[in-house]
Amino acid sequence: MAKHSNSEQLTAKLGELIDALQALRDLGRRWTVQEERLAALARQTPRLGAAVAGPRGRAAKPAAEPRPRAVAAAPSNSPAAAALEEIRAEMGDCRRCELWKTRKNLVFGDGAPTAELMFVGEGPGADEDEQGLPFVGRAGKLLNDMIAAMGKKRGEVYIANIVKSRPPENREPAPDEVAACLPFLEKQIQAIRPRAIVCLGRVAVQNLLRTKTPIGRLRGQWQLYGDIRVMPTFHPAYLLRSPDAKKPAWEDLKQVMAELDWPMPKRKT
Ligand code: URA
Repeated sequence: MAKHSNSEQLTAKLGELIDALQALRDLGRRWTVQEERLAALARQTPRLGAAVAGPRGRAAKPAAEPRPRAVAAAPSNSPAAAALEEIRAEMGDCRRCELWKTRKNLVFGDGAPTAELMFVGEGPGADEDEQGLPFVGRAGKLLNDMIAAMGKKRGEVYIANIVKSRPPENREPAPDEVAACLPFLEKQIQAIRPRAIVCLGRVAVQNLLRTKTPIGRLRGQWQLYGDIRVMPTFHPAYLLRSPDAKKPAWEDLKQVMAELDWPMPKRKT
């Protein structure tokens, strides 16, 4: 009996370890050889296998598969990186709202832990849910282009969302879902301490700043989140539907570049 409960405990502890490893991977740190071996061993035992495969028993990706990144993240031993790892670990296999039931992957965030600039979107869509990374679908490609137009690579900024689990059918996150998730975004902001935040769209800006002011009145006007300057602009998905809005959105990004003293990249001839 005692032996049985010891092995149960061991299984539980190993499960926790695997969760922590998975969280590191979500943050962009590649597993070490020992960690890869541990995950491979865990996959061979049925119960731990489920933990390595993810909360809903998805098939795990091969452990050795490198995670795509534009650029290596800032030093993974920086205090900001450590703080982000702690926040990710605290979230664990988050079930603080109902969205866990339908998500495939929790989408924590992506980019440099010491980024000067953070982008905040609304919540993961289907592609993001599939890959566990923010802004990787069509809107994400446009966001990458916007970042490139600012002279930066995606891996030099940090990208996150108001909610970290995909709302079904891409509906707007409900107030209780935002209430459960926003504290983690706020902790990420405190860990990263960016010099500026770009809020992408109404849901991002209204929830981060806790305001009901329409996006039309906020867009292009500097706001404050504590002492961090916030530039609300259009969501890339909206820009895909309304290309005329790209010009004012670019004006907003130019204001951000001026604020951060980022030079205008030379135009390719
Ligand atoms: N839209 C968002 O708001 N966030 C994503 O991560 C992707 C699309």
